[in-house]
Amino acid sequence: MNFQLTQEQEMLVDAVRSFVSRELLPHEEEVDRADAVSPELAAQIRGKAIAAGFYAFNMPEEVGGGGLDYLSQALVERELSKVSWALHVFVARPSKILMACKGQQIDDYLIPCVQGEKTDCFALTEPGAGSDANAIKTRAVREGDDFVINGSKHFISHAGHADFAIVFAVTDTYEHNGRKRNAVTAFLVDRGTPGMTVRRGPKCVSNRGYHTYELFFDDCRVPASKVLGEVDKGWEVANAWLTAGRVMVAANCVGQAQRAMDLSLQWAADRKQFGQAIGSYQGVSFKLADMATQIRAAELLTLHTAWKMDQGSMTDGEAGMAKLFASEVLGKVADEAVQIFGGMGLMDEGPVERIWRNARIERIWEGTSEIQRHIISRELLRPLLR
Ligand SMILES: Cc1cc2nc3c(=O)[nH]c(=O)nc-3n(C[C@H](O)[C@H](O)[C@H](O)COP(=O)(O)OP(=O)(O)OC[C@H]3O[C@@H](n4cnc5c(N)ncnc54)[C@H](O)[C@@H]3O)c2cc1C
Repeated sequence: MNFQLTQEQEMLVDAVRSFVSRELLPHEEEVDRADAVSPELAAQIRGKAIAAGFYAFNMPEEVGGGGLDYLSQALVERELSKVSWALHVFVARPSKILMACKGQQIDDYLIPCVQGEKTDCFALTEPGAGSDANAIKTRAVREGDDFVINGSKHFISHAGHADFAIVFAVTDTYEHNGRKRNAVTAFLVDRGTPGMTVRRGPKCVSNRGYHTYELFFDDCRVPASKVLGEVDKGWEVANAWLTAGRVMVAANCVGQAQRAMDLSLQWAADRKQFGQAIGSYQGVSFKLADMATQIRAAELLTLHTAWKMDQGSMTDGEAGMAKLFASEVLGKVADEAVQIFGGMGLMDEGPVERIWRNARIERIWEGTSEIQRHIISRELLRPLLR
């Protein structure tokens, strides 16, 4: 097996790394304190990302995107995540499920998202349906050429910036193994559509400045032409993308862990107690050894999984393993980084407490650690259980 990155991949990593340190990192502290990104800064980052050719790097070349393979995408995600989501979200990765756009939807949604003229948000989770996404209660009922949507969503990232939401609603039910299941449809719902209200959600400890929103649908009427994919086939549109997204979350976790590691290493060398650098004590240096080892393992697992995705051989369980392992490694590494920094690790004057706070979300969104374990164990046991 060849573990060598190509020359293009090495150059891509260097370019994204310097973009992050030049254009994003200088704003991180101010954005975290203000819990907001100004519209000017958002537009500036978007413009510079477009000019640098990083915008929509996840989308295929034939629609104007960067056309990167999954391994290269994971490398870019690893670098971008060395700064808070509040900032790198403006180097946008439009929802890949927009590739299901057809006819006029291509010009109205897909292409403007790739070109940075429109932004989407992904609206699945509801107060009563988180891990159990099939339990959503938002309904869309067909009335002539329209669907009428009623219900609500919460925890919808970035909806305040989005021009439209990809909304999942129940359109039918069916029986599966004696249980009632929901058939779900995805809709493209424009901001400002009568009957849809967007409201800022509660404050989150992770990624200050990157907000979640609540969406309310009260007889919200959308034409049937806004169905993304096929009616009742919403999961088919969503699932492939959600699985790939987990590998990208794993790459994000590796990048954050590497940043925590670099900071810890420097601190261990600089900070003196009892007349010596604290890194000269095994109590500290062995932590560094464990952190580096865990990060290396998480990185190899993540990149190998991305590579398997490129080969078309990745399974859901393997994507789950990458997300589970990398997010849990990040949690441990961020916590050890605080320990190595001592009291300074908890002060908001440095980046360590921010990394520690930001790390926490990674074990929850895009499927919790428990749900990843469920996916992995189901895949292992399925051939054996009858
Ligand atoms: C900051 C943030 C941004 C988000 N952005 C988006 C977004 O843009 N769009 C979107 O649609 N959603 C989004 N989400 C929702 C996110 O995907 C959910 O929070 C996540 O799937 C977990 O759902 P829940 O929070 O309702 O927890 P629950 O599902 O209520 O789970 C609570 C606990 O129970 C455990 N649990 C549940 N079921 C099982 C089981 N079968 N076995 C073992 N343990 C179980 C969970 O692992 C967890 O520990 C976001 C969430 C947050 C916090």
